[in-house]
Amino acid sequence: MKNVPLYLAGEFVQSQTSEWIDVTNPATNEVIAKAPCTTDAEMRKAIETGGEIFKTWKEVPVSERARVMLRYQALLKEHHDEIAEILSQETGKTFEDAKGDVWRGIEVVEHAANVASMMMGETVGNVARGVDTHSWIQPLGVCTGITPFNFPAMIPLWMFPMAIACGNTFILKPSEQDPLTPMRLAELFEEAGAPKGVLQVVHGGKEQVDVLLTDPAVKAVSFVGSVPVGRYIYETGTKNMKRVQSFAGAKNHMVIMPDADKQQVLNALVGASVGAAGQRCMAISVAVFVGEAQSWIPELKGAMANVRPGAWNDSDASYGPIISSKAKDRVESLIATGESQGANLLLDGRGCTVDGLPDGNWVGPTLFSGVTTDMDIYNEEVFGPVLACMEEATLADAITLINNSPYGNGVSIFTGSGGAARKFQHEIEVGQVGVNIPIPVPLPFFSFTGWKGSFYGDQHAYGKQAVRFYTETKTVTSRWFSSEVETEAEANFSIQLR
Ligand code: NAD
Repeated sequence: MKNVPLYLAGEFVQSQTSEWIDVTNPATNEVIAKAPCTTDAEMRKAIETGGEIFKTWKEVPVSERARVMLRYQALLKEHHDEIAEILSQETGKTFEDAKGDVWRGIEVVEHAANVASMMMGETVGNVARGVDTHSWIQPLGVCTGITPFNFPAMIPLWMFPMAIACGNTFILKPSEQDPLTPMRLAELFEEAGAPKGVLQVVHGGKEQVDVLLTDPAVKAVSFVGSVPVGRYIYETGTKNMKRVQSFAGAKNHMVIMPDADKQQVLNALVGASVGAAGQRCMAISVAVFVGEAQSWIPELKGAMANVRPGAWNDSDASYGPIISSKAKDRVESLIATGESQGANLLLDGRGCTVDGLPDGNWVGPTLFSGVTTDMDIYNEEVFGPVLACMEEATLADAITLINNSPYGNGVSIFTGSGGAARKFQHEIEVGQVGVNIPIPVPLPFFSFTGWKGSFYGDQHAYGKQAVRFYTETKTVTSRWFSSEVETEAEANFSIQLR
């Protein structure tokens, strides 16, 4: 068992705090590490260091900053499986899933290596006689990121490589539930040649986040996590005059049209609902069967019943445990409420066990049918391997149902009809739409574009739009006096225009 260090001012140091948070292996509930609740003095030191280092880092040529990202990308690839193993142990994710988490982060680092072309400004010559205007894209200063437990490699990597490539310094506050993966990312970043203090990592919860949200030296806050915390971060950060992007929770629907390919639908629904134990912000948690498609529900039940959770290194396991025993109790209690509110519980994942791992936070695949919009199982983000089935008469009814949801992260339609797919794409009020794709997560040359209650802010600063979020535009208008005077013809031309 180890005490997780802080990465402060370029050193991996032990916190002076007396408060520590247990980091557990969700498959056993053994304590594998302790994360410090960073002290106020340490938080202030991180912010002060970030401000100092910014003065020199922003002057480092953009091509050199990009080269750090190239080296980092190579190191992440070299250590890919090792990082995935750390990640599996602290999240419980299967090894395959953990490797995907790391890989999706590497893709953002690749994007960050192209920063120079993304930071190009604009020029117009002769905006007035002898006067030119050009714009520069410049970094902001100290930026910060607060990340959730469910993607401890990918989500920190959504943030700090782009912010730092733009010339900012960055303070990461990862989830206290799985800080070991982000610490390994930080070690490799230093190995890639990032100067000391450009990236710093602090640990803790609300108290530490509040320092980042209120200290005037912090210029921008990126958050990914649950809805209540996301709202709080947005409200508090903007009240303190910071730039904030806040990616929050979700309740994602998949619409199944009767003309869809049944086998594709069943495979997609099983993977998208129970994969990663349903702990994905893009998981499908509601299946909306249109018309005759509802006759497939018994086969869906059969397919889901064949899936089981297990340890990260069990290659037959489809998914791992829930992150904590508290989160598991919440999932089980929402299943109980679903039943008591009148939904049909077709598969009950409560009381699930895994051989040899009696203390893990296991929940089996769970399926409800007959779910209605007044039930908690429909309205709450369960964040467990639980799928709620609903029925609608027409595609238009399904679209109305989804557009009335307060969330807007992801949605999907399975259909054989181009017309139905087009109508759906155009009318649906959700930011990320899949057509015959269950989890439509965009690559970083697009943006991650949740809508409504799944996102607070005005820029989706993942990938492509990150450069706009982490920079300011400076417009310079200049006149240079030439020793040559205007020719008579030029002067006459101006006079005619006036
Ligand atoms: P969480 O909101 O509990 O925690 C996220 C981060 O906020 C952590 O670093 C945590 O320490 C910090 N935090 C917790 N309470 C806080 C408070 N009161 N004040 C300030 N900071 C606080 O989320 P989680 O359980 O770690 O992650 C799961 C959630 O994240 C789900 O709701 C999921 O949908 C969401 N998520 C969203 C996206 C997206 O892109 N929209 C991606 C991944 C996860």
